[in-house]
Amino acid sequence: MGRVIFIGAGPGAADLITVRGAQRLASADVVLFDALADPALRVHAPGARWIDVGKRGFGGVPHPLRGTTHESTGQDTINALLVRHALEAEVVVRLKGGDPSVFGRLEEELEALAAAGIECEVVPGVTAAIAAAAETQRPLTRRGRGRSVSLTTAMTQEGRLQASRSADTEVFYMAGRQLAALARRLLAAGWPAETPVSVVSRAGWPDRLQSDHRVDTLAQATVLHAGRPTVVTVGAGAAPLSKRAPSRDSGVPADAASAAA
Ligand code: SAH
Repeated sequence: MGRVIFIGAGPGAADLITVRGAQRLASADVVLFDALADPALRVHAPGARWIDVGKRGFGGVPHPLRGTTHESTGQDTINALLVRHALEAEVVVRLKGGDPSVFGRLEEELEALAAAGIECEVVPGVTAAIAAAAETQRPLTRRGRGRSVSLTTAMTQEGRLQASRSADTEVFYMAGRQLAALARRLLAAGWPAETPVSVVSRAGWPDRLQSDHRVDTLAQATVLHAGRPTVVTVGAGAAPLSKRAPSRDSGVPADAASAAA
């Protein structure tokens, strides 16, 4: 019996995988990968058998007629494939976009493998929210006004759109196709109309796009980011830095500075 290693591929370009992730990938006999993983990652395991299990691309919106049925069937199939290959091969890698622990259905796959008595390891990756913050140079936490960050899916299990105001900075995943509705839900959740919103699609890729909005004008981002995996950052961490910020903070990390104060 083999073991299964879950590896976060990062959000885009192949060089955003961690060194540990790349090393573990090189040991794979079989790789089950998602739609969002960069095909260039294959260079790490050219001799492995690569199996595409991408079941929904980006967006994660369930089929309107079938509700969640289609998705669950897909997940059951992936669970079964993982167990089957782990029984036959020595090292099975489950390569996931971003970080496996963030909206990656990791719990279901870990449970299925545990039920079959198969050993697992999880290697973290760069999640889309973090990549978007880095590329746009907009820290998700800000001294004094950005003390909490929430990674939130806008979609409920039943495929309904939902929004909240649970942190100073809230990053919404899986909302790219419904930005107008998200804007309405954000206003209803109590976000002021003028709250800054940064929309980033295909973070981590060379063709990454970013646009600035307010909560009440978020719908305007729809056309620019259409058909692309998108994260929507709302609140403190969405605001661009003022031009004075780099010299004023002179490179001292905010946490270190406030701890010393
Ligand atoms: N595990 C992944 C998230 C998977 S859910 C992670 O940690 O990033 C899929 C959602 O992630 C998409 O609907 C989109 O909201 C977001 N996403 C994934 N890749 C992205 C990218 N390169 N740029 C922007 N958003 C991305």
